[in-house]
Amino acid sequence: MRKIAFGYSTRCNIKCEHCVAADGSGEHVKMDLTQAKDIISELASAQIRGISFTAGEPLIYLDDICELLKICREYGMYTRVVTNSFWAQTVERADSYVEQLKNSGLSQLRLSYSRWHQKNVARENIVNAAQSCMKNGMDYFVSFVTDFSEQDDLFEDYLRHHKLIFFPEPVIFSGRAESFERIPIRTDYQENCCPMNPYLAPNLDLYACCDAGSHFTNTNFFYLGNAKQTSIDELFVKSETNSLYNHIRNMGISGIASFAGFKARDIIHYRKCELCEKLFNSPDMRKILEGEARSGLAAMYK
Ligand code: SF4
Ligand code: SF4
Repeated sequence: MRKIAFGYSTRCNIKCEHCVAADGSGEHVKMDLTQAKDIISELASAQIRGISFTAGEPLIYLDDICELLKICREYGMYTRVVTNSFWAQTVERADSYVEQLKNSGLSQLRLSYSRWHQKNVARENIVNAAQSCMKNGMDYFVSFVTDFSEQDDLFEDYLRHHKLIFFPEPVIFSGRAESFERIPIRTDYQENCCPMNPYLAPNLDLYACCDAGSHFTNTNFFYLGNAKQTSIDELFVKSETNSLYNHIRNMGISGIASFAGFKARDIIHYRKCELCEKLFNSPDMRKILEGEARSGLAAMYK
């Protein structure tokens, strides 16, 4: 199923230290509302069935997002909004936002939560937002962003104490988190396959990856093109037929790293996006892997 992360605006009401959407430039870009409506029609024509309104903070523009959600509903698209819950200071305000989103056809609300977010948004907001979702029959989950340090235990306990539905999500060491200190990790050897949801930026640049990959500026490896010049369908086909991207999806990044000469005992020290950056944000390595993708590498992948 084709899905997309939709960046309506890069503006946010807060400034989390770990934000992967920020590049430090401090400038905000926003899509024009009429243009956004046209793009959603084009996404529907291109058989995109799921859309996630994502960072910056979409609900700064609640009225616009509700208009866009209604269009998505007309096309039968699954919709998600990712929010920091700044709007849920009281039960009444939380209910008002959730009701408007529900009436506009939103399928799921995803509440971002972490020790960084909660320096700016009271954690009670997350509880108000989640409880309002439950009350109004809106699907939700809390995305608990963590670097797996002990400092996060109290934050995790808080979610459990309030019986909220949550999933841990590793912090991505990109954007503002690029310079964060990293706790050494060692995982079991895993394939690290990546589904690679495309990300549409407010200036209509489309990337094959919605996370760290849009910051691989040495190579622009995941950049597909701009939707003003090329149709969304063509850009999706470009992503779906790229042999190296398909190796990332199906064989996994660990297998590619092994092929590229990384020792197995080194591979297990890398986080997935870090390993991906090592491989694909290096012009020399990218050239080698692209050259091999249709031949030797292909032989390793069933
Ligand atoms: S709430 Fe999200 S978009 Fe806003 S600064 Fe924090 S991580 Fe970035
Ligand atoms: S592993 Fe690579 S493709 Fe997947 S989210 Fe991370 S940077 Fe993007």
